[in-house]
Amino acid sequence: MKRLAVEVRDLQGSYGERLALDGLDFEVGSGECFAVLGPNGSGKSTLFSILSTLKQPDSGVVKVLGFDLLESPDAVRRSLGVVFQFPSLDKKLTVFENLWHQGHLHGLRGRGLRERVSSLLSRFGLGERHGERLETLSGGLARRVEIAKAMLHEPKILLLDEPSTGLDPRSRRDLADLLFGLGRESGTTVLLTTHLLEEADACSSVLILDEGKRVAMGTPDELKSQIGGGVITLESIELESLRKDLSQELRLEGKMVGTGLRFEVEDPHEVARRLGEGFGERLDLITIGKPSLEDVFLDRTGRSFNGSSAQPGGEG
Ligand code: ADP
Ligand code: MG
Repeated sequence: MKRLAVEVRDLQGSYGERLALDGLDFEVGSGECFAVLGPNGSGKSTLFSILSTLKQPDSGVVKVLGFDLLESPDAVRRSLGVVFQFPSLDKKLTVFENLWHQGHLHGLRGRGLRERVSSLLSRFGLGERHGERLETLSGGLARRVEIAKAMLHEPKILLLDEPSTGLDPRSRRDLADLLFGLGRESGTTVLLTTHLLEEADACSSVLILDEGKRVAMGTPDELKSQIGGGVITLESIELESLRKDLSQELRLEGKMVGTGLRFEVEDPHEVARRLGEGFGERLDLITIGKPSLEDVFLDRTGRSFNGSSAQPGGEG
């Protein structure tokens, strides 16, 4: 049986009257890179705050490396390295000084601390920057310093709340490589929240959250394979009448998503061929895609991930 890094059962969390997490269940295996994916307001930061012991849950059980969050909060804290969504570094201090002060907070001192800081900095590609002030670093490098800081006390689990927010695509990829590397090289479990589909897609497991509830959980491939063979999206100036005709003539039930009409089908190439033959003149564009995590979200919630609503197709 795989060892569990994090175990969450029937977790509820709220702010006054507002329920932000509504009976959440999930577990994270040791050494995984685990993504909590959800749109804005779905409860990601609330979950992060509870796991990092900053916020009290209303009810439910949370265990971190087998330690109960309420019974052994200190053991939980020692197990975790935490990277907040908003930078926690001192801009006027150098890279080295930021880590040095953090080390003191953890009771590390002297040569041991100096060696730990140096090894982290070189591992994170920051060795030559150790004397530079934070304010002179790019967003991507500053994020690396944040992560190095969170790793100073050698936690088994690294928790990150939307770590790639504000980074350009290149820095995002570098960050992803760094995080996956942590899992591979030192067995660190990485648990990150994100609202970016492609970031979640690169992780070993994904929990999809919506309105404080679990919508789906599994490896990205498992989740996508539940959708079927593929997704076809049509664009046309007469989408409404096409939707009716396709439902009647081809028994294809589509969903309106944004400006397109979308179908989940088993054999997208065959369906696209039939669409082209029978309806080609009425179509502006046919797109064939593999199912994505966006499709998983749409399938489970009836809404597209970025907010525009989908209406069920066919006669209703
Ligand atoms: P996410 O991180 O996924 O955007 P949050 O966990 O921040 O979501 O928010 C979940 C829900 O809780 C939202 O409805 C949000 O408005 C509410 N919420 C978050 N923080 C607070 C707070 N400090 N006070 C009141 N409501 C909050
Ligand atoms: Mg958040």
